[in-house]
Amino acid sequence: ADLPPGPLTARGLTVVYEDFTALDDVSLEVTPGRITAVVGPNGAGKSTLFHCLAGTVRPDAGRVEFAGRDITRRAAHARTRLGIARTFQQLAVFPSLTVEENLRVGAEQGRVRDPAAVDRTLRLLGLDGPLSRQPATDLPTGILRRVELGRALAGSPHVLLLDEPAAGLDTVEVEGLSRILRALAAEGTALLIVEHDLDLVDRLADTVHVLSAGRIVATGPADRVLDAAARTVGDRS
Ligand code: ADP
Ligand code: MG
Repeated sequence: ADLPPGPLTARGLTVVYEDFTALDDVSLEVTPGRITAVVGPNGAGKSTLFHCLAGTVRPDAGRVEFAGRDITRRAAHARTRLGIARTFQQLAVFPSLTVEENLRVGAEQGRVRDPAAVDRTLRLLGLDGPLSRQPATDLPTGILRRVELGRALAGSPHVLLLDEPAAGLDTVEVEGLSRILRALAAEGTALLIVEHDLDLVDRLADTVHVLSAGRIVATGPADRVLDAAARTVGDRS
């Protein structure tokens, strides 16, 4: 895969619902080759931030930039075309299509239409062989999550946004996911993980941002930030 042209950057993002400030002047950078995590308790604003980056929520103030270009007003599908892929917590898999067909849909929506990317992604995720020809409807959640990730990866994204990727996975599946995400970062992909599971973040993230009541209250390497986060936010459950 070719290298990302630059970071995905949030500058001063603010989102107000009615009179409730869900996101308050949040800035961060999702850097090529690195895994950046956002943690925080329920209601902190993690999903709102995620939606601003993915293009499904328009901020009331602030900007989103990709490789130095203002994309704040770009629609979600246009961002996917630019190479900013996302996964859905409530899986966006087509149940009537096979595993491989689901990945082909992802490849069509992505940055480049590279037929080889589908086969490469099937192998990377262990979805190749007979599994690739199974309808998605019959598959267990752990595999469906891989299909969902595969759909995002088949478009050869520069940036991968993951909202709670470990939700519903067992320990072995989380370990497999960690290996895959590390391999993607090593190839130069910029990864953002919004996650409740601090153990996954601890093992994976290069930089962690702690979000609390819509503001970033701490930023740093996982080993330094997470203990402080567990004390102040009390979310290590
Ligand atoms: P998190 O993902 O960290 O749990 P969210 O970003 O989902 O947090 O939500 C942050 C806050 O904004 C919560 O208090 C939530 O109730 C509120 N909120 C989220 N979406 C909406 C919405 N569409 N309308 C009104 N309030 C919302
Ligand atoms: Mg959320």
